[in-house]
Amino acid sequence: MAKIGFIGLGNMGAPMMKNLLKAGHQVAAFDVVPAAREAAAAGGATACASAAEVARDAEIVVTMLPAGEHVKAVMLGEAGLLAAAPKGCLFIDSSTIDVASAREVAAAAEASGHLMVDAPVSGGVGGAEAGTLTFMVGGSDASFAKALPILEAMGKNIVHAGGPGNGQAAKICNNMLLGISMIGTCEAFALAEKLGLDAQKLFDIASKSSGQCWSMTSYCPVPGPVPTSPANRDYKAGFTAAMMLKDLKLAVEAASKAGAAVPLGAEAAQLYTLFAAAGSAGVDFSGIIRMLKGDK
Ligand code: NAD
Repeated sequence: MAKIGFIGLGNMGAPMMKNLLKAGHQVAAFDVVPAAREAAAAGGATACASAAEVARDAEIVVTMLPAGEHVKAVMLGEAGLLAAAPKGCLFIDSSTIDVASAREVAAAAEASGHLMVDAPVSGGVGGAEAGTLTFMVGGSDASFAKALPILEAMGKNIVHAGGPGNGQAAKICNNMLLGISMIGTCEAFALAEKLGLDAQKLFDIASKSSGQCWSMTSYCPVPGPVPTSPANRDYKAGFTAAMMLKDLKLAVEAASKAGAAVPLGAEAAQLYTLFAAAGSAGVDFSGIIRMLKGDK
């Protein structure tokens, strides 16, 4: 069993860390929020007073932080994890962050004699609790091989997407497509209503036709056709509009740096910006149908 450090014990990090403990690993944990550290200690981890303390004795360090700036602040510099960890430590960053920061930190890890993978997830808090997350992993073959058994304790589908940063690239490409397809699905159901076509009838036809997509068949934005979708519980998240907006902004930013044209991704980001600014940041992202229909 490995000595693992875990930094970032929020909605996702706390249950992911619990699954590492459940698998029999020894975990040293840190979060800037004292209550998160106390909860980790109560659950069987060793709570540390700083990120550097977590790394001092670790074979593997997992980070689950809000954004690229937090990952860079924790990893880099004299007081950072790369300086504090023993040589050959494996860093697994599961936060969703921008591709450029992921590659910058991975290069710094390698220069410091460490291994690193970016391993963002999909599956949400439910997947983190159940240990069924999907991990999209970027890094060398050696880093991936070392990370795999640790990721298997927290997830079910683990895909090696290529070199450093490619896990983040896969995550933002997938989520940009999801944001666009959700808006398209919402528009189709909103139009059907105006044309007097029953939502269930549209679902029965389109889910078996060329309009079929995950946003319709697994996460339908109108109540009824898919009983588990957030539309059936007044769009309680699920996956919030704020999180979709974060991922769309990362995609648009990466596209701008790479010289890729993403006009629909940019439009989706604009629409989610309006939706979030209208007070719906915490609403499930499929709730954007209400804005598109002009509902309150
Ligand atoms: P969260 O805000 O609940 O947790 C982040 C944690 O990091 C907080 O507890 C915060 O106190 C801690 N933190 C911030 N700066 C720190 C620092 N310098 N040192 C130590 N701890 C620090 O966020 P979350 O929902 O757990 O998401 C984490 C990451 O996972 C994000 O990048 C998010 O985009 C991604 N993600 C979230 C979901 C989801 O459904 N929540 C799904 C997929 C991916």
